[in-house]
Amino acid sequence: MARHLGILALQGDFAKHAAMLKQLDVAYSLIKKPSDLAPCDGLIIPGGESTTMTILMHKYELYPAVTEFAQNYPVMGTCAGMIMVANQVDDERVDPLHLINIKVLRNAYGRQIDSFTTMIELPFLDDPSPFQAVFIRAPQIETTGEGVMILLHWQDQPIMVRNETVLALAFHPELTRDPRIHRYFLENF
Ligand code: GLN
Repeated sequence: MARHLGILALQGDFAKHAAMLKQLDVAYSLIKKPSDLAPCDGLIIPGGESTTMTILMHKYELYPAVTEFAQNYPVMGTCAGMIMVANQVDDERVDPLHLINIKVLRNAYGRQIDSFTTMIELPFLDDPSPFQAVFIRAPQIETTGEGVMILLHWQDQPIMVRNETVLALAFHPELTRDPRIHRYFLENF
């Protein structure tokens, strides 16, 4: 079980993930430069804007550091974070980290005004009771490749996927007060 998570904190809603980890009593560091990763045994890439994250990750030289980190430790990406961990993105301004074999389409559920929440059961948990899934200009998983397990669908689309070391979600579990998905990451990766 990971006990000291890093949260990429260049941009986006990293503070919401921090609040969730606090709620779970899990230690964390906000990651703004490569050396911040030193105490960590897992990483969360938050929601935000993947184009901006790309620019800032280059600026702070985080691509080699995160790529190497991800060879040894698990990574969870939510929304823009899912775009960042993908193998392929439909927007060349984004440099994804190629950590999970999925192809994603940015903003495929519409613009800001089309953001929505929906209640979804979590069949992969002992307590599958409905979870409030928040979608904000969410990306869509267009294809999944080898080694990828689909944990959750919504309207026939995969919205939560994993491989051995990476968990990727199109929605924002950090925007609820329900810690079940963060706990799933902590206990299963
Ligand atoms: N639309 C954003 C992007 O493409 C993701 C939105 C989000 O993280 N809520 O990066």
